[in-house]
Amino acid sequence: MRPEKIGIIGSGLIGRAWAMLFASAGYRVVLYDILPEQVSTALEEIEKELHALEAKSALRGTYSVAQQLSFISGTVELSELVSNAIYLQECIPERIEWKRKLYTDLAAIVGAETIIGSSTSTYMPSLFSEQMTSHRENVLVAHPLNPPYYIPLVEIVPSPWTKPEFVTRTRDLMLEIGQKPVTLTREIEGFITNRIQYAILNEVWRLVADGVVSVADVDRVMTEGLGLRYALLGPLETAHLNADGVADYFQRFGGEVYAVSQTYGPTPKWWQVRRYRRLQPNVRKWCRESS
Ligand code: NAD
Repeated sequence: MRPEKIGIIGSGLIGRAWAMLFASAGYRVVLYDILPEQVSTALEEIEKELHALEAKSALRGTYSVAQQLSFISGTVELSELVSNAIYLQECIPERIEWKRKLYTDLAAIVGAETIIGSSTSTYMPSLFSEQMTSHRENVLVAHPLNPPYYIPLVEIVPSPWTKPEFVTRTRDLMLEIGQKPVTLTREIEGFITNRIQYAILNEVWRLVADGVVSVADVDRVMTEGLGLRYALLGPLETAHLNADGVADYFQRFGGEVYAVSQTYGPTPKWWQVRRYRRLQPNVRKWCRESS
């Protein structure tokens, strides 16, 4: 086991996955939760999960299940968790007031060199670190995609006051545990993944709601087409290879990209569900058929 300690705050779905990822790289991992039973459940679930992964030959890292389990322990004392940790991964529910309270508490006990990465999917790091009276430069977002054990992407998002060195260190740490980090230069709503995901969702929904294509067929466009391509090549790489370089691509096809883009409708107002409600049975049926 490596001597460096990693603290996980919140022992739910994502906290457990992070614990397994850090343990797979040999880190000493301590799990914390406000509910003591959550910690014991998490330790039991991790044990089952690691054995299941081993049986499927999907266990990560070079350590055995027994070794990885011995690297992970639990606590219900936040101060004990934080003490001597090089990195804390916060995984508490997506409630901004809960996050702000936790970060306020952490400000009083965290070490100057301890990085705090939040798993949040939606909140920019300034939203829950601005009120901290000290060490707010230690806070950033390290957003995984679910399930993190299988999907390696991690979005690292700094607040305006995050120390650049902590961003670099987090990126290195993610690489070390076998994840694939991307670093944003500044915080932005939705980070990168959700911005792209929402653009797709908006257009998919408009096309179905306007009766242009069925629910099953629009999903098939992703699963049998674009998704397969994007599993191998990013959009810019695709553009580059589709022409004599990316500049040539936009020279040749930019007019068409622009013309089609002009025909997109307004952003759907997702909370005005009446227009979309009639689609729900179709989506449900498609999910049943495809699963
Ligand atoms: P979860 O509900 O499964 O687990 C949250 C855990 O945090 C619970 O065990 C709860 O008891 C504990 N908790 C609550 N308040 C706490 C506190 N103050 N201190 C310590 N522990 C506390 O939630 P989750 O799905 O694991 O999500 C955690 C975070 O990860 C959220 O910010 C979420 O947005 C993010 N995330 C979730 C997913 C996903 O698909 N579930 C994907 C990426 C990121």
